[in-house]
Amino acid sequence: MSGRDEFQRTIAYGEAAIGQLKRNEIAAYPRNYELWYTYCAGFNHALNKAINEILRARGVITMDEVNKIYAVFLSPSRIADRIDDVGTRISGELSGVVGAMEKSIIATSDYCTSLNGASTALEGATDSADVSEIVQTLISETRKTEAVNRELEVQLAESRRQIAELHESLDAIRFESLTDELTTLANRKHFDQSIERAIAQASEEDEPFSLLVTDIDHFKNFNDTYGHQTGDQVLRLVGLSVKQNVKGHDIACRYGGEEFAIILPRCNLKGAAAVAEQIRVAVMSKELMKRSTGENLGNITISIGVATFNNRDSVQSIIERADSALYLAKHTGRNRVCTENDLKMESRSKKTKTVA
Ligand code: GH3
Ligand code: MG
Ligand code: MG
Repeated sequence: MSGRDEFQRTIAYGEAAIGQLKRNEIAAYPRNYELWYTYCAGFNHALNKAINEILRARGVITMDEVNKIYAVFLSPSRIADRIDDVGTRISGELSGVVGAMEKSIIATSDYCTSLNGASTALEGATDSADVSEIVQTLISETRKTEAVNRELEVQLAESRRQIAELHESLDAIRFESLTDELTTLANRKHFDQSIERAIAQASEEDEPFSLLVTDIDHFKNFNDTYGHQTGDQVLRLVGLSVKQNVKGHDIACRYGGEEFAIILPRCNLKGAAAVAEQIRVAVMSKELMKRSTGENLGNITISIGVATFNNRDSVQSIIERADSALYLAKHTGRNRVCTENDLKMESRSKKTKTVA
């Protein structure tokens, strides 16, 4: 999607969100704006349903209701809040361990003092009763120290378990922060990291990798005709077709609104063009049906541009080549795959025409 499209679409959502804030007389704090922006963009169906029910019943929504809806539908998904929560729990565990260790250190030092005391007392002992008393004291001190150390062991085992659990939570948060919610493919942030890594690896290992960039054909028309929510279902379907046609170490990402990018490690131009063709055919073979009405929406097609790494490439240059190939696919009829070789042939044929 061009920056201009994204600009216009998001401004429209933003204006609608401000309209809702005014209509419901709600302060335009970032949090309230976020809620209404999400509502107007229709990203979160459950949130829209909850708001629509209130609006249908009374026509307006109160600040209290806004707070509740935010807490239920938006707050739990805020990655920063969840990382904060994991941080608080880890620091709770650590202070528990530190407390138990301090107790154990004090107990061990007390035990040492008792042993020294016992040693001095033994030197001065005159009869078996004295010795027996000293031994009784030693046994009782040893038990006390053992109990404190056992407590520390239990605390350490529990903390180890809790920290392993928190580690898993962090992994899940990390995974979500790199995943596109709508399609469950990798998101733009993941793409940016992955392409940097792919360039570094390809330069080091002298192995090619390829990049596909796809864009849905005439998607604006589709959205205008059937609405953005149906458009979003189509995005999910295209995402699924992409996912079903890549494998192993391939990285499929939602690059922008209705654009996907796929990194194919250790894959040359020919191999990448074949994968692109499979994805193109998979998308066009799906007949779309509107879930709510059963209406047949026909087929959707995509265009794909393909480029392969060369050792002069930067992140920007390989993306630019794939993008140019995509635009060639668009300008030569859409629903097709064009590679960087097609770009070369196109520019050669232009030169020939100029000379002729
Ligand atoms: P072309 O064949 O030249 O690509 O035509 P197009 O209409 O698809 O043009 P373009 O690629 O510029 O389309 C961008 C449109 O994609 C604008 C918007 O309607 C739609 N779009 C972008 N992001 C989203 C999204 O997240 N959800 C939905 N439903 N539509 C989106
Ligand atoms: Mg586009
Ligand atoms: Mg398009």
